[in-house]
Amino acid sequence: MSQTGRRVSLIDVAVRELEVVRVSDVSPAMKRVTLAGKALRAEAFPPFVSTGFDDDVRMLFPYPGETLPVLPETDESGRVQFAPGRRPIARAYTVRKHDAEAGEIDLDVVLHGDDGVASQWAQAVLPGAPMHIVGPGQTKSLPESPDWWLMYGDDTALPAIARLLEELQPGSRGLAVISVAERAHRIELTHPDTITVHWVDRAEHVAEQGSLPEPSDLLRVAEWPEGEPFVWLAGEQSEVQALRRFVHQTQGVPKTAIDFTGYWKHHRHDTDAANER
Ligand SMILES: Cc1cc2nc3c(=O)[nH]c(=O)nc-3n(C[C@H](O)[C@H](O)[C@H](O)COP(=O)(O)OP(=O)(O)OC[C@H]3O[C@@H](n4cnc5c(N)ncnc54)[C@H](O)[C@@H]3O)c2cc1C
Repeated sequence: MSQTGRRVSLIDVAVRELEVVRVSDVSPAMKRVTLAGKALRAEAFPPFVSTGFDDDVRMLFPYPGETLPVLPETDESGRVQFAPGRRPIARAYTVRKHDAEAGEIDLDVVLHGDDGVASQWAQAVLPGAPMHIVGPGQTKSLPESPDWWLMYGDDTALPAIARLLEELQPGSRGLAVISVAERAHRIELTHPDTITVHWVDRAEHVAEQGSLPEPSDLLRVAEWPEGEPFVWLAGEQSEVQALRRFVHQTQGVPKTAIDFTGYWKHHRHDTDAANER
């Protein structure tokens, strides 16, 4: 059980050798990369499981000049581990959709314009390209019927929020605040009509107000419904930490009702994300 009361199921981790079968534009700043392979089909062993809206896999990238990424090894007890030494170049991505019949997953990758290996790969990748993934290592259930839902995320959290919105029961009340770099990055979302979606366009905010929005202002965009919320926050690490402080200290929401994850850090060249969680 997680601190927020979400039931955690651990999953046998395997390395899965896949191929890019489709690439499409979700928005001008996000590519949907569809990966396929037998290892994602219903009969695969260990099975690929992704029942939680915020499950993630790690894409493994080769070092420059190499064709294969650093791959983990499976020991005699079946545990998958990276050997000490050269660390894998691994990046976390949310499983936007798993189709076990077709043996496919969709990953929605933000093209953030910095020189990240994953972002650059997604910008240029074509069908036929190979990709190794590991995970998900765990999957978390939805919390038991909160009075209402508060979701905040930036562009990187859009895949998880989109999946959560699609999975919510009809009549679920709540507020989703999504901060994107610019208006053109908004996407169509499917959600119960009792959920309000509020978009924040960072470029417009800077043009109009001269600065980026304060984290606490982000969540003051609309009146909060009555009752005890379940709060889910993801995005740039320091922003998410500030939002959590605001939700807990200013708004009085107990920490046990706040699920928060730093999805990326400013000015960070991350070659060993796989070893951090
Ligand atoms: C559980 C989890 C799920 C995630 N799901 C998704 C997802 O579905 N889609 C998605 O796009 N991302 C997702 N992320 C975030 C993604 O893993 C990071 O953005 C990652 O750092 C991108 O790798 P990169 O190789 O492109 O850049 P890196 O090599 O990691 O970083 C290079 C530079 O780019 C900057 N940078 C990294 N990401 C961003 C960004 N988003 N915006 C602006 N600058 C950035 C860094 O600060 C650094 O200066 C998720 C992260 C986690 C932990």
